Amino acid sequence: MIAPAPAVHASVASNKTGTRDLWRKLAWPLLLACGFLIFISASSIYLVISSQSSQEMMNRALQVENSLRGILAVVRIAESEQRGYLLTGDPQYLDTYRAGITATAPVIAELKAEIGDPAKVVYKAMEAVLVPPPWYSGRVVLLGDAAHATTPHLGQGAGMAIEDAVVLAEELNSDGSVRQQLERYMERRYERCRFIVESSELIGKFQMNEVDEVDEKSMVEKMQQVTAQPI
Ligand SMILES: Cc1cc2nc3c(=O)[nH]c(=O)nc-3n(C[C@H](O)[C@H](O)[C@H](O)COP(=O)(O)OP(=O)(O)OC[C@H]3O[C@@H](n4cnc5c(N)ncnc54)[C@H](O)[C@@H]3O)c2cc1C
Repeated sequence: MIAPAPAVHASVASNKTGTRDLWRKLAWPLLLACGFLIFISASSIYLVISSQSSQEMMNRALQVENSLRGILAVVRIAESEQRGYLLTGDPQYLDTYRAGITATAPVIAELKAEIGDPAKVVYKAMEAVLVPPPWYSGRVVLLGDAAHATTPHLGQGAGMAIEDAVVLAEELNSDGSVRQQLERYMERRYERCRFIVESSELIGKFQMNEVDEVDEKSMVEKMQQVTAQPI
């Protein structure tokens, strides 16, 4: 069927108006949908990139941890062999010690290179404490680090704490008043602990170039003689 011309015009015009109305209605939802899709895509890309960099950081942290474990294992053996030398004087013990130093040097250098920003390094001061006598007041008594915290240079802090405990237990089981028992505890402990704290501090200062002419080996030997004496 052929429609008359004015009717066709009217139908085309109403079609155009309908399409425009439809686009007007759909424009905002479409824009919002496109914006949402762009947002989701950008977020996904960001998450993928950031998870990749977290993964890389985690892998690096694990590598560093493994390197440190390796160094610790070597150092433990080297340290006990070094003590073997100090105790026996047998130079063969130093072979492992030297091999340990050679093996760990490149790994330490590699780890050192990772420390780029000094502001991020956690520095902690070493402190020594030697409480002047008496270490007791009334029925309260100090022992171990509370009375004599030492620097680590002689490795005797725990040893001295254990000795304190043994001596204190002995004295508290012996004759006399609590005051007399604590006085005897003081007498038996003070000089030995003072010697360790002061010698250890001196070695530390020597190692940091704060004092000259300290014979570290002789000091370690002296420490061994002193600590070999009965408590
Ligand atoms: C890195 C490092 C390496 C060391 N290496 C050696 C070594 O090779 N050889 C060696 O002999 N010594 C070593 N020492 C020293 C040794 O660890 C200490 O000298 C020893 O642990 C002291 O024993 P302590 O019982 O006096 O004190 P701690 O071991 O410090 O014990 C005190 C306890 O009291 C608890 N405490 C504190 N405040 C309170 C509170 N208000 N109420 C209840 N509990 C509390 C603490 O949590 C802790 O458990 C090292 C120390 C350090 C830090």
